Amino acid sequence: GGTIGMVGGGQLGRMFAMAAASMGYRVVVFCESRDEPAPQVAHECVVGKLDDMQAVEKFASRCDVITLEFENIPASTIAACQRFAPTYPSANVLATAQDRLREKSTLQNAGLPVAPFAEVNDFDSLVVASERVGLPLILKTARSGYDGKGQHRIETIEDAKQVDWASCDRWVAEQLICFDREVSVIVARSSDGRTASFPIFENEHTNHILDISMVPAAVSKKVQNQARSIAVSAAETMDVVGLLCVEMFVESDTVLINEVAPRPHNSGHLTIEACHTSQFAQHVRAICGLPLGKTNLVSRAAAMANLLGDVWGSDCESPPAWDQAIAVEGVCLHLYGKQEAKMGRKMGHLTCVGEDRSRVVRSVVEARQRLV
Ligand code: ATP
Ligand code: MG
Ligand code: MG
Repeated sequence: GGTIGMVGGGQLGRMFAMAAASMGYRVVVFCESRDEPAPQVAHECVVGKLDDMQAVEKFASRCDVITLEFENIPASTIAACQRFAPTYPSANVLATAQDRLREKSTLQNAGLPVAPFAEVNDFDSLVVASERVGLPLILKTARSGYDGKGQHRIETIEDAKQVDWASCDRWVAEQLICFDREVSVIVARSSDGRTASFPIFENEHTNHILDISMVPAAVSKKVQNQARSIAVSAAETMDVVGLLCVEMFVESDTVLINEVAPRPHNSGHLTIEACHTSQFAQHVRAICGLPLGKTNLVSRAAAMANLLGDVWGSDCESPPAWDQAIAVEGVCLHLYGKQEAKMGRKMGHLTCVGEDRSRVVRSVVEARQRLV
């Protein structure tokens, strides 16, 4: 037992709290509103701005161990948490994961393969960078982007004139990778350095937002081994305790890291039904110093489809026909309890576990289609 603190009130915090509670822990959530997904299932909630030091201390003083569900947390907040209880990921891991340039350099300096990149600060430095990484390229803000927000595809130098250069002072120009597939590996690491990685997930994105994840990934054994060993090395390089998700591009037999996230990840939601230990239960184990759980699939295949606010219809008001979706054999529904549906907002997901990959993918897609 004991009390685990969770900074952030979103769906990752919510599913973590459910796993932690079922393992006998109390969970205190720290977030800006009691109406967010996580407080609804937590034992306690401290409401406050993440940079309000009085609220941070009120929260942290109640916890035996602290974790978080998103990276963009002020460094001062994490430093304050660390004064009260062990905090995972640490301030140091977070500083790396908050900044694409620092993240990519750290991984590259450790000899890990990352998509070719260059630092950019303005139009002129983009011109120089484009000679190094080539065109087309993807321009990303160094900090605080998610779901593709803050990204520009630059086909010609002319396109770079449309960028609002004043909005940000540090950017990453990244080579456009013509990948065959995108995959991710989630690895858990405990404070004594033990690691356990989940099977590789194959991910499909639509409009830069994860749409479908599936296992097994349709990649060679060689690529699978490479991807899993890259993920373990990345966790060791960054000295992560807890989970690290490594998003990768696969281009024939080559694996390149896109980015990492030191927390549970959307591509791992299918582990709730598909693996002996879910990513959330594994995160609890890793940060609480418990033995890591078995990560194997409980059956041969699984698929997950995200439910965005879009399925609520154009007015985003009438709730979809959930009964229709879960009537598809084997499909499980997860809803995050968000108060308001918006286009592009992650509201829930559907999972199906079975023996045949194309069948389980078809099942979640059909279940989702019944909603619109
Ligand atoms: P999130 O953190 O929500 O995953 P993000 O804003 O950090 O999103 P990225 O993961 O960098 O965004 O990019 C989102 C998607 O855009 C990728 O999963 C991939 O499909 C595409 N993408 C990003 N960078 C590249 C690249 N260099 N080459 C080709 N496609 C890319
Ligand atoms: Mg990201
Ligand atoms: Mg990403």
